[in-house]
Amino acid sequence: MTPIDLHCHSTISDGMKPPREVVRMAHARGCQLFALTDHDDTRGLADAEDEARQLGMPFINGVEISVSWGKHTLHIVGLGFDRNNPELLAGLESVRAGRWQRAEHMAAELEKKAKIAGVLEGAQTYAANPEMISRAHFARYLVEIGRCKDMKSVFKQYLVRGKPGYVDHEWARLHDAVDWIRGAGGVAVLAHPARYELGNETLRVLLVEFKRMGGEAIEVLSGCHNIGETARFGRIAVEYGYLASAGTDYHATGEGAREPGLNGDLPMDCEPVWTRWLAQL
Ligand code: AMP
Ligand code: MN
Ligand code: MN
Ligand code: MN
Repeated sequence: MTPIDLHCHSTISDGMKPPREVVRMAHARGCQLFALTDHDDTRGLADAEDEARQLGMPFINGVEISVSWGKHTLHIVGLGFDRNNPELLAGLESVRAGRWQRAEHMAAELEKKAKIAGVLEGAQTYAANPEMISRAHFARYLVEIGRCKDMKSVFKQYLVRGKPGYVDHEWARLHDAVDWIRGAGGVAVLAHPARYELGNETLRVLLVEFKRMGGEAIEVLSGCHNIGETARFGRIAVEYGYLASAGTDYHATGEGAREPGLNGDLPMDCEPVWTRWLAQL
């Protein structure tokens, strides 16, 4: 196992535990390098860093930026940046700005097309950070009221493209997200590449473009990847000259496969992104 976790969420976005608690959980599992990567928001980092320092666990700043690339929504993780960088902060604020309106629109669609009332208020009870209301908050509420048995079914039935609660949204542009991260001294990482279900040619174009824009790594180990996907993206990282990253994408206990702090082993020949911050492991 790799005692490293460079992708985790807290209550600052759509995770269920506050930043300090996620850090404590990672530490308890023996984590030796940790990044908190909330969606579009860095306001959990000060607490997370303070907690990690008290525990003696190496910590780097992180964020997961929502990006629109053509008709696709992608997630770009930024690692090891200066969290006070004004351009990065302004960029993230602009990405968050549309979320509330999108949530209102989603709720109206769910009421109209699926006859579910009060879903905005319900989702809000799960969103500790009002600027960061996400589909995950909607999904938890729909499970709570018994519409679906779990989050996965909610997404499938209500929240993905073509379903009643899905609303198109313009996120950051890919090159802007990469520029914000790099401008703040960080490394830009393509998160969970297997999740986008891109065809081979589209994936090839993305990997070439992301690299040209300054992207340096892709997640090979991810809580969203199965063994076959890990092997595939390990080969792709080597082929395209990307560093390999590792993150559980932890949100809440019981929701995903992994708890924070530990990932599997990188496929052979992959060059880990974390040597940037840890000389050796
Ligand atoms: P948003 O940024 O508001 O579009 O919400 C995206 C979030 O929803 C992701 O970061 C995940 O936390 C969650 N999510 C997306 N797809 C699924 C799924 N199929 N099952 C469970 N959670 C999902
Ligand atoms: Mn999420
Ligand atoms: Mn993601
Ligand atoms: Mn994530």
